[in-house]
Amino acid sequence: MSNDNNRKRLVVLGGGESGVGAAILGKDKGWDVFLSDYGTIAPSYAAMLDGEQIAWEHGGHTLDLILSADEVVKSPGIAPTTPVMQAIIRKGIPVISEIEFAGRYTDSRMVCITGSNGKTTTTLLTYHILRDAGIDVGLAGNVGKSLALQVARDPHEVYVIELSSFQLENMYRFKANVAVMLNITPDHLDRYDYKMENYVAAKFRILQNQTPADAFIYWQDDPVIAAQLRHVTTEAMMLPFAEHHEAGSHAWVDSDDDVVFDTSVESMKMPRAQLSLNGLHNLYNSMAAGLSACLLDVRKDAIRKALSDFEGVEHRLEYVATVDGVRWINDSKATNVNSTWYALESMPACKGVVLILGGTDKGNDYTEIEPLVREKVKAIVCMGKDNRKLVDFFSGKVEHLEDTHSLDDAVAACRRLSADGDTVLLSPCCASFDLFKSYENRGELFKEAVRNLK
Ligand code: ADP
Repeated sequence: MSNDNNRKRLVVLGGGESGVGAAILGKDKGWDVFLSDYGTIAPSYAAMLDGEQIAWEHGGHTLDLILSADEVVKSPGIAPTTPVMQAIIRKGIPVISEIEFAGRYTDSRMVCITGSNGKTTTTLLTYHILRDAGIDVGLAGNVGKSLALQVARDPHEVYVIELSSFQLENMYRFKANVAVMLNITPDHLDRYDYKMENYVAAKFRILQNQTPADAFIYWQDDPVIAAQLRHVTTEAMMLPFAEHHEAGSHAWVDSDDDVVFDTSVESMKMPRAQLSLNGLHNLYNSMAAGLSACLLDVRKDAIRKALSDFEGVEHRLEYVATVDGVRWINDSKATNVNSTWYALESMPACKGVVLILGGTDKGNDYTEIEPLVREKVKAIVCMGKDNRKLVDFFSGKVEHLEDTHSLDDAVAACRRLSADGDTVLLSPCCASFDLFKSYENRGELFKEAVRNLK
């Protein structure tokens, strides 16, 4: 025990949604809580901490106040290589994530979703199905309110949680009743010593502690997942899904173009054409969400209805408007090559796509999308501060290539290059920080510009 009144000391690093939630839960559960943030804590969170009389600091870390902790809850954004983390690790203080901490204080059922792409879409779709079916469900993790705050102040029977590899890194005893792994492609390797195996291992922590009563839902054709499963032992029920039926599949599309969901709790089918989200990637996301709902014993009709009326997620293949017969689509969240591949895959086969690419390149290899570009794209409009890499790569591979450096110029070029029946697709393959504050900001400004065309 580290202080006079024998209360255990909890230090929370990071004063955002998850950190403030963990601090409040910790206080409710009798911990002596201190929160520290190296940057600036937003006024709304500062007010919450003050309202709860929780001690906090920002603009730096006071090590004396931190190294007296019995346990540390770390925000997923803080890298283990930072000096404060190094000091904590040297002292041997246990470090956990907010989800791990919250999981100690609840017996609710946990549906946890991870993967390199599709997490938010699948999490929100699963939440939509469960909520529409009348289940008392909370949304947590990277989306929604922090799990800890909900456990403390607004508890639910079921939580749907989006888990990044950063959150999974500091999870040990937490158990997912239903774990979903959508796919694994290289991402964030800078945080994993540039070793893919470290990133894969972090993602696979979603399986730890699962028992035969729990389920692991995953994409059967993902080579990285398949390879890792050869080295992993788990007692969980395995429910892989695939586009076409394979040995062991629990969801697939049959020869009538129906999506089949097959679990020991509930089985059903529905026409693929009735899924509200289009594209192969969204078929996978819908399968993962539908299987999770089947396992939670949601009625078939409710699952069918919710899979067909989900409105989609902003900035992910989001339909904006049709102007003079041209459809404009905002996929600003496509910040890597793999997600743009899926966006193009979902487009019609005729050469009717005007594609906006560009931004901050994270070391992209565009050969992955070249065949789809040749097949479906009539023009590429580059939109970035420095488009040289894109221009070099795609020159001669599409009919038109435009080099623009602002949103207005890019939209004007798209308007010129598109004709009735075409689609303009913002799916940039790149981060947004060269011209925009964030991918959300890029998507919002794009939508505004499109609406102004009308
Ligand atoms: P995440 O939360 O994992 O970043 P999102 O749901 O926000 O995933 O989607 C990110 C991008 O990836 C979007 O451009 C989206 O269209 C694309 N995407 C969605 N689901 C998948 C999937 N299953 N596989 C590949 N790309 C996907």
